[in-house]
Amino acid sequence: MSVVLGMPRRLPSGSGGIGDAPVAASGTRPPVALPTERPAASGLIDRFGREATDLRISLTDRCNLRCTYCMPAEGLPFLPPPALMSLDEITRLARIAVTEFGVRQIRFTGGEPLLRNDLVEIIRSVASLEPRPEISLTTNAIGLSSRAEALAEAGLDRINVSLDSIHPETFAKITRRPFLDRVLGGIDAVRAAGLRETKINAVLMPGVNDHQAVELLEWALAGGHQLRFIEQMPLDADHTWDRDSMITAAGIRERLSARYLLSPDDAPRDGAPAELFQVRERAEGPDSRMLGLVGIIASVSEPFCADCRRTRLTAEGAVRSCLFSHVETDLLGPIRAGADDVEVADLWRGAMWAKPSGHRMNETGFAQPDRPMSAIGG
Ligand code: SF4
Repeated sequence: MSVVLGMPRRLPSGSGGIGDAPVAASGTRPPVALPTERPAASGLIDRFGREATDLRISLTDRCNLRCTYCMPAEGLPFLPPPALMSLDEITRLARIAVTEFGVRQIRFTGGEPLLRNDLVEIIRSVASLEPRPEISLTTNAIGLSSRAEALAEAGLDRINVSLDSIHPETFAKITRRPFLDRVLGGIDAVRAAGLRETKINAVLMPGVNDHQAVELLEWALAGGHQLRFIEQMPLDADHTWDRDSMITAAGIRERLSARYLLSPDDAPRDGAPAELFQVRERAEGPDSRMLGLVGIIASVSEPFCADCRRTRLTAEGAVRSCLFSHVETDLLGPIRAGADDVEVADLWRGAMWAKPSGHRMNETGFAQPDRPMSAIGG
């Protein structure tokens, strides 16, 4: 495989490395040629009329859980620390995103972002950007109880916690770790730290935790958390995902409807992955008090790609235009080779212009990407 600096590249299986940068004989770097058919626009537009204003940054591919639908029990070959974006590189790319592209939301993901010792500094640095983006974090909450206050003080606005069950045995069966108490402790610490509502992301699996869906929603409503059920996606490292065994949005609604009435929420979706539903007690009827909202992220069965506003950076500084992309554009190599902001911004624009129309999971010939979710971060 040859890596051409900044050019889209096809990934050989299991890779994630960064190539060396070609430099012109004059020592200057060749300007980036954007596709001629791309209109002159500063934002991250694509060929399908979408514009990305929601940036997801993976801070590491390491995780301290081994969820069965994501990673093998023995883990994966993780990136060496020098391959990861540094605090300054993350801040620079975030600055380019908010000042050049009009990105308004930045979400930090992983692997598990709490495994970054400099997470507080990263958030503080990005929170100091002008215009200030809204900053959120997706985490498994292990270790959050001791860091929630510092993260909030540094400028974190919102947290999404991944939690598939409130039963210790089921939690341990799914994550291969007996850490439920730590997760629940982390969730409690979020509120104490004064952060807005915690959103809970849960994946249902048949015969594992799908029978607990109603109970999980009851727990979330009682705690004032917004629960979102996510359809299991073909992004597992083992490539064992099976469409016939995943629980679809229809299946999730059916399970919840055993006790609750769900009615579509009327707030605009604005490209958000989750479709929101108002929740009421079925026994009390449709005019009863709304208990809260529940979300369903139906990437597989009810895709929402037509209004996708997301752009992603991997932990090693490559642009992924789509979660299911087979092509990445390396930014960290150029940055470490002296590229200026104009070059970096245009490489990013070029990558997003080529964004596919969608994940094509429901089309013949769909191929699961080599990079697993644990190294993308959602
Ligand atoms: S699959 Fe790709 S295009 Fe579709 S919503 Fe996800 S990131 Fe966007």
